[in-house]
Amino acid sequence: MPQLPGAEVASAKKQKRSHENASVSGSSTSDESTRERKRKRKEKKNGTKSDRASELVNVNGHRRSAFEERRNSLGKAARDPRDEPSYKKRITAAGQGIKVRSPSPVIDEDGLSRPGRGTRDRREETAEQAEERLVKMRGAVRTILECVGEDPDREGLLDTPSRYAKALLFLTKGYQVNVADVVNGALFHEGHNEMVIVKDIEIHSLCEHHMVPFIGKMHIGYIPSDTVIGLSKLPRIAEMYARRLQIQERLTKEVAHAIMEILKPQGVAVVMESSHLCMVMRGVEKTATSTITSCVLGCFERKSKTRNEFFSLVGLNKS
Ligand SMILES: [Zn+2]
Repeated sequence: MPQLPGAEVASAKKQKRSHENASVSGSSTSDESTRERKRKRKEKKNGTKSDRASELVNVNGHRRSAFEERRNSLGKAARDPRDEPSYKKRITAAGQGIKVRSPSPVIDEDGLSRPGRGTRDRREETAEQAEERLVKMRGAVRTILECVGEDPDREGLLDTPSRYAKALLFLTKGYQVNVADVVNGALFHEGHNEMVIVKDIEIHSLCEHHMVPFIGKMHIGYIPSDTVIGLSKLPRIAEMYARRLQIQERLTKEVAHAIMEILKPQGVAVVMESSHLCMVMRGVEKTATSTITSCVLGCFERKSKTRNEFFSLVGLNKS
């Protein structure tokens, strides 16, 4: 901080000056008030300075957990400004003991996960607005058909714009799913503290760079702290994040963080293997490649033994 040494010099100079003032001048009221003012200013300055110093110590002294760091490393997606966290509200809410907004970037106040700019419009639209949306999308698909050199009016393509628009809305329906609806209270206090794994969850998602599918399998493991979640909920959480434009890395992370947040377990591990059609069908055309991503949180992150047990149980030996 370059300001600190500067501020010190300034206050030292002032001290010297006020000392000179004191030795030279008598007790005239104007001098006294000047000194008083200077003293106050100095006090104010020192106060802010020491505040800032303690603040620095706090920032430096506070060791950020790896968990926090990972949270901050989540991809920053375009967000609806209405979804920005309101910190002021959070403080008062905490003071009054009301349930506060989740600090996680994964799940929003109203249960939406990473809503984009258009998410709420889509979720809250009326029947007429929904029809308007379809009309717009049909027009766009028709344009695409023309652009690729097709005749959108030939028999086989007549309904394609409408079908494609509906299919695309289906494939991206995860945006408007509310986590609370997915979990639907299926949390059970069981006192069970052993690893739980759901393997081979089929994932069909769309790569956000090409809007072409990537298809694969996800394995989710967690170690509860007494509370377990209904087993079918894990694939549904995965599906919620897969039914939107994604990249595999973020999908893996979002599922792990969401489970961490919903369940507060000792740890979560998510690993995903998939084949990206944007790689298989175009570009490098490497049909046999698969991409593996993983995200481990809590005890899976801390203990290599736990992590290795998970990887060997899902058939991926990482040691
Ligand atoms: Zn792609």
